[in-house]
Amino acid sequence: MKVPPSFRRLVAALDSLPEVGPITAKRIAERLLFDREKRENLVEAIRGLDSVRLCKRCRVITEEEVCEVCRDTTRERKIMVVLSPFDVFRIEESGKYRGKYFVLYHLISITEGVMPEDLPIEEFQRRVREEGIEEVILALPNDVRADVTGRYLVEGLEGVKVTKLPSGIPRGGDISSLDPYTLAEALEHRVPFE
Ligand SMILES: [Zn+2]
Repeated sequence: MKVPPSFRRLVAALDSLPEVGPITAKRIAERLLFDREKRENLVEAIRGLDSVRLCKRCRVITEEEVCEVCRDTTRERKIMVVLSPFDVFRIEESGKYRGKYFVLYHLISITEGVMPEDLPIEEFQRRVREEGIEEVILALPNDVRADVTGRYLVEGLEGVKVTKLPSGIPRGGDISSLDPYTLAEALEHRVPFE
C-alpha cells in the first residue's frame, strides 16, 4: 500500500520551495494533514498574495494601483533606484529618506541573458522627466552589472544629479540586510556616479 497521492503531492510542493528539503517537507505535510485550521489559514494567506501587484509608478509591491510613497505629494524630487521591493521597505523603516523610489528587480547581465531592453529604462526616464526629478540615487549592488545598468538608466538625462551609495556597502549590496545605522551612513555619504 502507498501513501495517498494528495499527500505526496503536498510533500512535493513543499519540497520544491527554497530551503525546505524532503524531510522538512514531509514533517510540515504531516502537521497540515491533521490540523485543518492551520491548513485553512495557510491556504488563505497564500491566496491573499494574488492581490499583490506592482505600483504603476515605482514598481514596489502593493495592494493598490499606486503605492503610499507615490501618492505622498510631500516627497522630495529624488528617485532612489533599488533592486528589490524589500529594499524600499527597509529604507522607509529607517526614516532617513524622503524621496521616491524605482524598483528594478533585475540588472543587465549579458552572461545571464538580461539585456537592456528587458529593463523598464524608458519608463524610468519618463518618470524622471515628468516628475522633474533633481537627483537619481543608484542604490544597487556593488558590482559590474549594477554599473552597466546604472549607465543605461541615466543615459541622456540632462540636468539631473546622479549619485550612488558609497562602496562601503557589503558586496552583493543587499540593502534589506543592512542595520539602520549603516544604512543611514550610506545614504548620508552617497558619492557621484561617474
Ligand atoms: Zn509607488
